[in-house]
Amino acid sequence: MAEKAISSAALTELESASGMTLAIMGGMSRWSFWAHVALRLRIALALLLGTIPAQAASQAVLYGWLVVDWGDAPGESVVALSLHTQEGEMVSLRLDDAQLGALPALRNRLVMVQGEWQGGAGLFAPADGGEFLATSIQPFSGGEQTFSLSAGAPLESDATTDVLGSKPWVTLLCKFSDVAAEPKPASYFQGMYSSSYPGLDHYWREQSYDLANIAGSASVARWYALPQPRSYYVYNMDSDPELEFDRTRAINDCTAATNPDVYFPSFIGINMMFNADLDGYAWGGSRYLTLDGVTRLWNVTWEPPWGYSDLHVIAHEMGHGFGLPHSAWNPAVVYDNRWDVMSDGWTDCNNSRNPTYGCLPQSTIAYHKDRLGWIGSRQVVVSPGALATITLEQLDLPQGGNPLMVRIPIGGSPTNFYTLEARRKVGYDVKLPGQGVIIHKVDTNQSIPALLVDADNNGNTGDAGAVWTPGEIFSDNVNGIQVRVDGSTATGYTVSVSNQAGAIPNPQLTKKLYLALLRTP
Ligand SMILES: [Zn+2]
Repeated sequence: MAEKAISSAALTELESASGMTLAIMGGMSRWSFWAHVALRLRIALALLLGTIPAQAASQAVLYGWLVVDWGDAPGESVVALSLHTQEGEMVSLRLDDAQLGALPALRNRLVMVQGEWQGGAGLFAPADGGEFLATSIQPFSGGEQTFSLSAGAPLESDATTDVLGSKPWVTLLCKFSDVAAEPKPASYFQGMYSSSYPGLDHYWREQSYDLANIAGSASVARWYALPQPRSYYVYNMDSDPELEFDRTRAINDCTAATNPDVYFPSFIGINMMFNADLDGYAWGGSRYLTLDGVTRLWNVTWEPPWGYSDLHVIAHEMGHGFGLPHSAWNPAVVYDNRWDVMSDGWTDCNNSRNPTYGCLPQSTIAYHKDRLGWIGSRQVVVSPGALATITLEQLDLPQGGNPLMVRIPIGGSPTNFYTLEARRKVGYDVKLPGQGVIIHKVDTNQSIPALLVDADNNGNTGDAGAVWTPGEIFSDNVNGIQVRVDGSTATGYTVSVSNQAGAIPNPQLTKKLYLALLRTP
């Protein structure tokens, strides 16, 4: 008996043969009952005849929008992937780390996912969505022609990562039905969005050089009770012994409870504040929702009380909401880059505290700002063969029009490059552990694209090893890249950069010479 490993093509044949739509979706409500029965019978027959190995029969192809949520706990980080199917179901995706790299580019995009259902669910999703082991995720273009979307489903897949213009958020205050506490008053949350220092509108304007703001952001005026106790939202959702936070239940009930007083289409983001711990994490990401008759993507955060008692945590989660990933020195540690609000917001809190809003955020790094469209032409690219001298302006509160970032493509690569940025203790960067030129090695195909370069590799990103000051040279001999900090200006540094153009002439005495090989291919 000839066995045939079932492939997506084979599935498509089966489906076409039974006169149905191309894709197997997360649910089956669109399918007519009889067509569904016909497919079931065909597959049962195929299994019976042995033309499909039973073990592989749960393979499937799903289409939907890829949703990426970042979970942050002290010392622990998770990235949760879900597929929002056109039926409105959220399917948890599991995939191996090697595939994570493609995800930043695919976040919020319409994708085709191949793989198999977990837990013996067979060809069809379990009613509650279930978990799907993905073997490949690819952008799905031209999807509008090949599968018809149900009414009201989001039609566009927005590929841009830019965050420009007015981006108002709404804060929802939601209480578990069995927890009475109201940890902070509504006025605290309204004040958090202030346009004066250290409010979040002030912060994001400063980060974006006024290219983006969150003006119009607002908090609801009181806490709202959720219909269910905490145990309905925080429970064991999978096979491990730990409790998970059901972010879908939480956002559905929290938006429903507050909806009489909130017109959601006025906002691009939703910050949900809860009155007790969640699963140990604060979460930031996105969701496709239908609210007040509008179906689209909202940026979303889910915050436990510790998430809103220090402002840098909210800034970090909103950063995820805007699509920013983490940076790190050691990608296994994640929260160890003291130069980035998207990594270590805790270590330098004593440098920047507010009596009301606690530990304040430092800036995010130049690579992240560039991703959001905030650097643009204010960067210099030093391509292979070039030798350049550049005056870098401080990344926070720049004065005048000098460049904010240098990009050094490794071997001319568009996805692998070094970045240089000048960091000084001004504005929100008063929090920084020092000042000087900071170097990151970026691989845009990694889930943590930017890794801080630290000359002494001792794990302390706030010491002299991570900061290049006048007279110091960074050298990547393998790739023929050299950077020398020539001197300082009132608000920045001059640097010379050689990209495969030989040694920088007249090198000054160096106290650091570092061969950078943080990540081997
Ligand atoms: Zn995070």
